[in-house]
Amino acid sequence: MWIDSHCHLDAEEFDTDREQVVERAQAAGVQMMLIPAVEVSEFERLRGVAHRFGFGYTLGIHPLYVAQAGETDLGRLSEAVRTARVDPNFVGIGEIGLDFHEGAPDAGRQEHFYQAQLRLAHSWSLPVVVHVRRSADRLLKYLRRIEVPGGIAHAFNGSEQQAREFVACGFRLGFGGSATFSGSLRIRRHAVEAPESAVVLETDAPDIAPQWMHQQAGRRRNEPAQLPRIAAVIAQLRSISPEQLAQINRRNVLDAFPRLAALSRAA
Ligand SMILES: [Zn+2]
Repeated sequence: MWIDSHCHLDAEEFDTDREQVVERAQAAGVQMMLIPAVEVSEFERLRGVAHRFGFGYTLGIHPLYVAQAGETDLGRLSEAVRTARVDPNFVGIGEIGLDFHEGAPDAGRQEHFYQAQLRLAHSWSLPVVVHVRRSADRLLKYLRRIEVPGGIAHAFNGSEQQAREFVACGFRLGFGGSATFSGSLRIRRHAVEAPESAVVLETDAPDIAPQWMHQQAGRRRNEPAQLPRIAAVIAQLRSISPEQLAQINRRNVLDAFPRLAALSRAA
């Protein structure tokens, strides 16, 4: 059984055929997904999608959405988390973090939202889905100050030292479509060298389409059904079987998100 640890199934890209997307994923062996939130106004919709299919979700404000988010959104998030504590499909805080690529929102504003949400995760003792983009050192600086029970560094692409430090803070490293490109040398090296207990798999669908989708004409909407094929590439890099990697992924994702483990047992 495969778990897609990071899939934006609630995204509008899936509005026309979400049922079929899930059917294709399940036919490919992807039985569980973790759907991270990106903005407060979408929480209800996200919750609806997660419940309809029996998947897990996290609540949070994505760093690329902080420009349009207001201070009241942090209050609304905090209230939503309090309410969601009794919801078995709610499993943690995310997607939060820092994104320092060109054109991203003001860094100070991102850090303000990131810190506030880390404190929320700390106060409820909830694991976190962290968005990392040219921001690993700054993310780690706050993770050393505000202790949270680990989580996933999603789409990790930092140095070996940064990888070790995320792992030391209790984080798993998320690998997905980027690892399918032969030119992604650093990500591929991490995929090979990361300790077994740190490897988790994700599609980030509808984003980060794997290499073979880029060869097709037309749309490149990534789907959770791609996870096993992406995983096959990573398994080969690590010289293990896809079945072994499926087990490793399952164990690591469920260890990182105990509430998702409870939801999976109940399913
Ligand atoms: Zn994401």
